[in-house]
Amino acid sequence: MATQNGSAAGKAPAYNGAAYPITDHTFDVVVVGAGGAGLRATVGCSQAGLRTACISKVFPTRSHTVAAQGGISAALSNMHQDDWRWHMYDTVKGSDWLGDQDCIEYLCRNAPEAVYELEHWGVPFSRTEDGRIYQRPFGGMTTDFGKGTAQRTCAAADRTGHAILHTLYGQALRNNTEFFIEYFAIDLIMNSEGRCCGVVCLKLDDGTIHRFRANLVILATGGYGRAYFSATSAHTCTGDGNAMVLRAGLPLQDMEFVQFHPTGIYGSGCLITEGARGEGGYVTNGNGERFMERYAPSAKDLASRDVVSRAMTIEIREGRGVGKNKDHIYLHLDHLDPKILHERLPGISESARIFAGVDVTKEPIPILPTVHYNMGGIATNYHGEVLTKKNGDPDYVVPGLMALGEAACVSVHGANRLGSNSLIDLVVFGRAAGLRAAELVKPGEKQADLPKDSADLSLSRLDRFRYAKGSTPTAQLRHKMQMTMQNNCAVFRTGQILEEGSRLINEVWSAMPDLHVTDRSLIWNSDLVETMEFDNLIIQAVVTMDSAVSRTESRGAHAREDYPDRDDKNWMKHTLAWIDDEKKRVNLDSRPVHTYTMTNDIQYIEPKARVY
Ligand SMILES: Cc1cc2nc3c(=O)[nH]c(=O)nc-3n(C[C@H](O)[C@H](O)[C@H](O)COP(=O)(O)OP(=O)(O)OC[C@H]3O[C@@H](n4cnc5c(N)ncnc54)[C@H](O)[C@@H]3O)c2cc1C
Repeated sequence: MATQNGSAAGKAPAYNGAAYPITDHTFDVVVVGAGGAGLRATVGCSQAGLRTACISKVFPTRSHTVAAQGGISAALSNMHQDDWRWHMYDTVKGSDWLGDQDCIEYLCRNAPEAVYELEHWGVPFSRTEDGRIYQRPFGGMTTDFGKGTAQRTCAAADRTGHAILHTLYGQALRNNTEFFIEYFAIDLIMNSEGRCCGVVCLKLDDGTIHRFRANLVILATGGYGRAYFSATSAHTCTGDGNAMVLRAGLPLQDMEFVQFHPTGIYGSGCLITEGARGEGGYVTNGNGERFMERYAPSAKDLASRDVVSRAMTIEIREGRGVGKNKDHIYLHLDHLDPKILHERLPGISESARIFAGVDVTKEPIPILPTVHYNMGGIATNYHGEVLTKKNGDPDYVVPGLMALGEAACVSVHGANRLGSNSLIDLVVFGRAAGLRAAELVKPGEKQADLPKDSADLSLSRLDRFRYAKGSTPTAQLRHKMQMTMQNNCAVFRTGQILEEGSRLINEVWSAMPDLHVTDRSLIWNSDLVETMEFDNLIIQAVVTMDSAVSRTESRGAHAREDYPDRDDKNWMKHTLAWIDDEKKRVNLDSRPVHTYTMTNDIQYIEPKARVY
């Protein structure tokens, strides 16, 4: 259970286990993660002349960014007049006023430049008739501070992430980045002064241990969607970097905010992009009614994701779902011109056919809200530097450590991310991290001595699971975690359901010593690696649940039926959560939301009711 106001130190247990030969590497910068965020930072660091390693547990172009469909937001004005200030207003409103406004200003102001950079590097964006980047409408994106509908989401058909990831990988190779592919990062190396000095990895094709020493470590390890049973994210999305940060005695921020995407395919969880509604798609209930007109009279089907997911859940609960069990909703694209579907949404037409057996030109797609994105993660400023709360300073910078992408909580998405704002977050802050790295680190500069026990935390974890001879298989315990998160920490929450969830998820955490690992080999796909990923997930699940229990208000994706209103007086603050692994406890505290902007080009956007 959670306690308030405390932090737990991350202390490496002394390691007395098996002797593993260790291969040492030294770099100026080590980036862990080769998704959009990691690759963009890698390119920036390499361009700055820093010897940069990029480590990834999967081949870079298999990183989860490859799955991003609908597009990347930036006020380019290609379809109509647009303004980064309108984008900022939408993002602040989308965040339900939990986002830090200085960071949101940085994101929206720098978005157009970041997209043009991608275009120049070769991303094959879809085009308008006059040859400009095509932009589509997305939920919550408006013009003129909420008055009209914006077309701000730049798209490469419905395969935008694929196009961006392949382009960035090419740029990283072009800039001589050294890749360490299928290396699994186990834990950070922190010294006694709290500086990050490197990371220890397991090489997955031969089981050898590698110690990477660096002046700067950048974590870009993605989200932890797989803490839930049904998620749009890949099986590799286990939030490993978040867990490394918790074990290093640092907090995670705003973990109670988990986004459910309204249009996961019923049964498989596979995503149908919001771009489908952007192109004119709409949802209906069992009575054939376009019910979003009741919940969001202006934005209707293009209201923000938390709003549409809640509306769908209410329709199902009140007996107006579709199908035999009235337990899902329909998404219609069958009224759209098949030519448009073929041109702009080819990927989702294929997904609907494969995963739902539906021809989108003729029938509706069965859909259900599905876990999609983690707003919470590693607290950072807009340079990507990791923050903790120390000696009363809520924005204390942890030396030698940065975090980016879905692993990070900058916080620009606050309580709810707008669609297409993640890809832009990856490249804007990936670029910012490269610029900051060039200021902080000089090529070949001397590095801090490694602590004597630098590999102990990693090796003791490895050994603990390698020789785990209890009675519970990893898959069984992981299933219990995923079902608990799905049932007790979902679209609607109450104190009672969350308290029960906290008890159940803490039971799973406490059962870790009873794990039984069958395949102990040190290579990819072994039960051992799955167990280390599960060990990463369970501590994030516990902090998510306990942070949700603690927040007694409704804001963005965190909807409490027992506290239906937003409470700015008591809760306009970020939750910080630490773990104490030994005592199996979560310690909670908070830091204030930044209620100021970076420049005078825009004033702080005052909180108001969030209606669409
Ligand atoms: C189906 C789908 C569609 C989406 N569509 C959009 C969209 O249209 N627009 C939008 O803005 N957002 C979209 N999103 C969200 C967006 O795609 C993600 O938030 C974003 O791609 C995350 O990028 P990332 O770089 O942070 O992490 P990822 O792309 O997940 O990359 C993580 C990297 O970390 C590495 N890694 C992780 N753990 C370890 C470890 N222990 N050791 C070594 N390496 C490790 C992985 O190998 C990988 O390279 C979508 C998400 C989904 C699920």
